Amino acid sequence: MINDTYARRLQAKSVIRELSEYATRRGEEIGYENVFDYSLGNPSVPTPDKYNEEIIRLHESMEPMALHGYSPSNGIPAVREAIAESLKKRFDLPYEAKHIFPTSGAAGALAHALRAVSKQGDNIIGIAPFFPEYAYYVGDTGAEFRIVPAHFPDFQIDLTALSSLIDEKTAAILINSPNNPSGVIYTNETLSALSDILRKKQAQYGHEIFLISDEPYREIVFDMEKAPYPAAFYDNTLTCYSFSKSLSVPGERIGYVAVAPNAKDADILVAVMAQISRGIGHNCPSSSVQLAVSKVLDLTADISVYKENRDILYDRLVSLGFTVNKPDGTFYIFPKALEEDAAAFCKKALSYDLILVPADNFGAKGYFRMAFCIDTEKVKRSLDAFDRFVEAEYGR
Ligand code: PLP
Repeated sequence: MINDTYARRLQAKSVIRELSEYATRRGEEIGYENVFDYSLGNPSVPTPDKYNEEIIRLHESMEPMALHGYSPSNGIPAVREAIAESLKKRFDLPYEAKHIFPTSGAAGALAHALRAVSKQGDNIIGIAPFFPEYAYYVGDTGAEFRIVPAHFPDFQIDLTALSSLIDEKTAAILINSPNNPSGVIYTNETLSALSDILRKKQAQYGHEIFLISDEPYREIVFDMEKAPYPAAFYDNTLTCYSFSKSLSVPGERIGYVAVAPNAKDADILVAVMAQISRGIGHNCPSSSVQLAVSKVLDLTADISVYKENRDILYDRLVSLGFTVNKPDGTFYIFPKALEEDAAAFCKKALSYDLILVPADNFGAKGYFRMAFCIDTEKVKRSLDAFDRFVEAEYGR
């Protein structure tokens, strides 16, 4: 008999997917160039040439059985070594190959990290606003997903609320900075205060509370050299990284978990995650893709396009009277809707062919998300639609 838990999910389709499908249908009617589709977080800038050249070089130069053979279940040693070296250089932590576990993107990294440090009956705490898939990533581990309400209007962490949600069953805190959907980066002060709380709670309850830091947007930052790195603040951190957004390769399914070198059980956590792979049927990512990314670890796609899009949208939204933070990173902007019901607001926007995502299931009622990973020329054309929408519907 079909499993009810999953079958029931078919009734609750993702709002983002529904809107994206609507945009495709509307595009067939009026031309996709006339639909201002801000729904999906699919990178829009080309993958760096060096990545493609590396893939070609591997296929031309490597012995096929070696290139296409199974990867060791902990990942290819040279790849793990290269990732550890790069992290060590960039964040000044003594990572070694034994701390690195290659995965299928951030989703694969989270599936392993969450399971490695929690069990049925524990709780894992997330911070609103958050990526809606977290409800499934956490829920399907058997742990309870607790949510710290959003801290308005800056979308840093409500540390008092977090503190009051932690109890003896808390196994981990799940954070995401730079953040989808807010575009906000957690500050040094936030991360430092968060770490103090976690250290106190560990002492109080007599067990580790892990920090699981989801960082697919780590490289997409605009006005600072780099985002503060959570593992540098707190030893018991599992960093879940993805190359999906930084290299524009989401279909290649490649990322990793980096176990902070001073974490409890740092020497065995990767081996534990390889055991988790056995049970969930997710084995190492493709060997050729592991090898290719290991040669471009310090490259990103041209993210200047995202910065330009951010600036154009932010300036216009502010001049139209929206309450909005200027995103520090990512390719999302997260304004407050012009009426209480963000779903009603986004529905009205459809009449102007503006595809905006209401944020109720991101944990911030009354807000909406725009994924501005689209052509700059289209962002500019969408401004007129925004002006017409806001003037006609809200008299501004
Ligand atoms: N975490 C966040 C915050 C995301 O936005 C995404 C994808 O959009 C993921 C995880 C999953 O990333 P990946 O495609 O690398 O599995």
